Amino acid sequence: MSIYDLTIDELTEYFLKIDEKKYYATELFSWLYNKRITSFDEATNIKKEVREKLSKDFTISNIEIVTVEKAKDVRKYLFKLNDKEHVEAVLMNHDYGNSLCISSQVGCNMGCKFCESGRRKKVRNLTTGEMVEQILKVEDESNLRISHVVIMGIGEPFDNYDNICNFIRITNHPKGLNIGARHITVSTCGLVPKILEFANFPYQVNLAISLHAPNDKLRKEIMPIAKVYPLKDLINAIKVYLEKTNRRVTFEYIMLDGVNDKEEHALELVNLLKGINSYVNLIPYNETDALQYKRSKPLTIAKFYDILKKNNITVTIRREFGGTISAACGQLRSKKEDI
Ligand code: SAH
Repeated sequence: MSIYDLTIDELTEYFLKIDEKKYYATELFSWLYNKRITSFDEATNIKKEVREKLSKDFTISNIEIVTVEKAKDVRKYLFKLNDKEHVEAVLMNHDYGNSLCISSQVGCNMGCKFCESGRRKKVRNLTTGEMVEQILKVEDESNLRISHVVIMGIGEPFDNYDNICNFIRITNHPKGLNIGARHITVSTCGLVPKILEFANFPYQVNLAISLHAPNDKLRKEIMPIAKVYPLKDLINAIKVYLEKTNRRVTFEYIMLDGVNDKEEHALELVNLLKGINSYVNLIPYNETDALQYKRSKPLTIAKFYDILKKNNITVTIRREFGGTISAACGQLRSKKEDI
């Protein structure tokens, strides 16, 4: 098991179980996340026999960087996992800090028609440690501090719910990666029961919903998950989430030429989101060779934006990163070779 799988509470339990001092958990966290040790032997204020026990029970490094592709303000990382599977992460340099888009699964089962990542079925969930290590390895390679994390790479985070929650606990912990909860964003295609569960998760992280269509008929055509959870249930779950957390949600809406970008869709969207404390992020679609969808025309996007704005919906158009190195939303792959 990876040492990065454990939250500070779990590590405390571990030390208690082996009849050791529980404050070792805090000590070890700072060795791991502050001093970035690569071997337990370096944790010199933990006694030798405990360090040896740790080396027997846990591994430290479990993923490695295979390639780094660089373009202006963006880097794409390909990681190899212990079982030789691959995932990608994308580092973006913003004026407000450095944000890392991490993957949560090898492959994805959600089958969104427009998404490159979903062309490979889920092979397995990433462990908590494999997600934590994406941040550690990128910080190490880039020499930058990651200030923001978005779980929007390969995979459906809410299909890997428990590991995501532990990932957030470690990432947010002051002795862990110490990234503010409000700087962490989880994006889901809309797994209703998990949205309801997440409403009780006591961290002020951001929730983004991949909406992409303003009615069930269209949504079902492009997102199979809509057949399981219709918009009525999704919106109700979001209302419960908002009520309990007092936060707001982001709706992601990719602009697909001739599919979901007409005036009538904008008006339908206005209606759907009326009274919901939300914010809409329009995403110019990133075309990929294997899929037939096209990006909406700039003028169409501008018109769509104006309709939302006029109707008092808070809306932005997503800044684009990484198109030239296939590092943009929906272009990440879980395999080294093309599939
Ligand atoms: N499974 C999660 C997170 C991963 S996808 C989710 O669905 O939210 C991150 C975002 O990128 C989602 O909103 C997804 O719909 C969007 N996306 C997928 N393919 C895209 C593409 N080719 N261009 C732009 N955005 C895309």
